Amino acid sequence: MKRINILDNQTAQLIAAGEIAENPASVVKELMENSIDAGARRITVEINGGGIKLIKVSDDGHGIYREDVINAFARHGTSKLTNSTDINRISSLGFRGEALASICAVSKVELLTRSREETLGTHICVKAGEYSEIHDAGCPYGTVVSVRDLFYNIPARMKFLKSEIAEGNKIAALVDKLALSHPEVFFKLVRDNKQILCTPGDGKISSTIYSVYGKEFFDGIVPVDYEFNGIKLEGYISKPEKCRHVSRSMQNFFVNGRMVKCKLAITSLEEAFKNSIMVGKKPCCVIYLKIPYELVDVNVHPSKIEIKFSNEEDISEIIYSGVKRAIDKYNLKTFPLGETENSYLSDLNSNKILSLDKKLNSFNDNYLNNEVENIKNLVCCEPNTFQLDSKYNSCTKDFYESIKSKTKKHKHLEKYKNAEVEVIEQSNISINFNLKEIKLIGEAFRCYLILQYKEKIILIDKHAAHERIIFEKIQNQSYKHNSQIILNPLIIVLDKNEYSAVTENLDLFYKAGYEILDVESGKIKVKSMPMYEEIENLENSVIEIANYLMENRQNAKPQKLEWLYHNIACKGAIKAGKETSKDEILHLVKNLLDNPNLKYCPHGRPIYLEFSKKFIERQFKRI
Ligand code: ADP
Ligand code: MG
Repeated sequence: MKRINILDNQTAQLIAAGEIAENPASVVKELMENSIDAGARRITVEINGGGIKLIKVSDDGHGIYREDVINAFARHGTSKLTNSTDINRISSLGFRGEALASICAVSKVELLTRSREETLGTHICVKAGEYSEIHDAGCPYGTVVSVRDLFYNIPARMKFLKSEIAEGNKIAALVDKLALSHPEVFFKLVRDNKQILCTPGDGKISSTIYSVYGKEFFDGIVPVDYEFNGIKLEGYISKPEKCRHVSRSMQNFFVNGRMVKCKLAITSLEEAFKNSIMVGKKPCCVIYLKIPYELVDVNVHPSKIEIKFSNEEDISEIIYSGVKRAIDKYNLKTFPLGETENSYLSDLNSNKILSLDKKLNSFNDNYLNNEVENIKNLVCCEPNTFQLDSKYNSCTKDFYESIKSKTKKHKHLEKYKNAEVEVIEQSNISINFNLKEIKLIGEAFRCYLILQYKEKIILIDKHAAHERIIFEKIQNQSYKHNSQIILNPLIIVLDKNEYSAVTENLDLFYKAGYEILDVESGKIKVKSMPMYEEIENLENSVIEIANYLMENRQNAKPQKLEWLYHNIACKGAIKAGKETSKDEILHLVKNLLDNPNLKYCPHGRPIYLEFSKKFIERQFKRI
């Protein structure tokens, strides 16, 4: 049997280095993070040969005192922690004191540094752990670290490197992300003597995104801004129609200035987009979270890119709700199905107008700025083109007339601070829809409705459309409207885990239309169920929901509730393959026109396709 040896220092260093200096990009990351931690405002990265030949990072940070230079290269040499209690509240990017030690174990390192208090700079070279003499050097304050011939002494690692181009690309992608992580720092990347990135360092997220990802990306994003339980979220997300196919490479999350890989954040982001994009597409984002340091554990992985939150539910909630709000706000401004007047009108028929009215009653400046765009959209419609219940006609009409005339003259919207608008019940508005303009041509494959509408042929997936309409209804209506009482309450027997999942979430069930009593261990009694649910399916539905809740405990409440709504909507919707009456079809179409921002079913499939007359004529070579 083999005996146990203690490894010599150099071998131990090489093993430890493997975790941190995994490839050239990981070395660049460590050096740039050191510069950021040193409070640098300008950081320049130069690489040659994919970073294998040279990585040089220069900064104007606080530098290193001459007496500390040797300690900086020592294992566990750090200025960022002094004792073990500091680990509970880490505010710097680095803290392990391992990066420089690891890098100089696997390359030839040269350091030039000067602190602001010193008049002369310090120069030192380290090769495979051996130090040269320390020399004086004339240099500006700050630090320059040059790393040459990476992995020259570990051929095994060399073999695993990709081509210089591929390694260079990895570095470029990494520098992009680090540049995004700190908009207040000016970053420059020079690759094989060519400058390929330069950010303004003006502290603005928008201008940093513009310089990193370019105009086209920039044109496809909208801001997010949200605060919850002491956590702040800001940044940008892609517009639903600008989401990418498959790749998540443009999903950027930063927590307290640290770029992180975080499954929880990705899930919450994608859940928020779920009803607005097609399945398979991935949203892009540049999201910054500011969280009290003591609620984040950054010491879970050597690369410090994975982190743990002590308040996972809050994080999930803030991302989900912040993103969802931004999408809703954006959707409100876009009018798909034909960009017609009817589409504009539909906003009036939804409760958006109610919330707007309510808000107008308690106007404040902040709100005003945010809603200026919405009001502009609303005033685009002619009050005369829709009929209101006579009781409400005049007040509502006056209200729109007044906003219309004032906004047209570009007067400041503060004028409406005192606008008195009666809050009207949604059920009291009835819009006289011009269904005559819609010609129902038929139904294909018992699945797709074919309509002629203005200069377009529209194909509607009847199941997807109905599902989405129900989904919206149950989401926006109260329990009273969503639920039906069961004459003979149903007793369901559940296994232990299902039982606790149900009883822990009675409030969620209630919001979705199920009134459930916790009878005794293992048994529940269902007194009411959703309007769209069939009694025969009730038991299965409850068990299915219980299983979902068991498997997705970490999801935020709104996210769980949304899943429940999807589930109910899917079951309640008319089925493809089944016959649908003409009345039902017309009802569906009207509902769809009422809600023009519904583009996808809750699973992300499109609800309808449009073909313009021009397009068809072109196919027939008429034009
Ligand atoms: P850590 O960042 O975990 O402290 P490193 O090995 O990366 O460990 O760096 C060791 C120490 O060297 C740092 O704590 C810091 O004091 C100093 N240092 C490294 N790079 C720089 C830099 N660019 N500017 C100023 N100080 C630096
Ligand atoms: Mg470091």
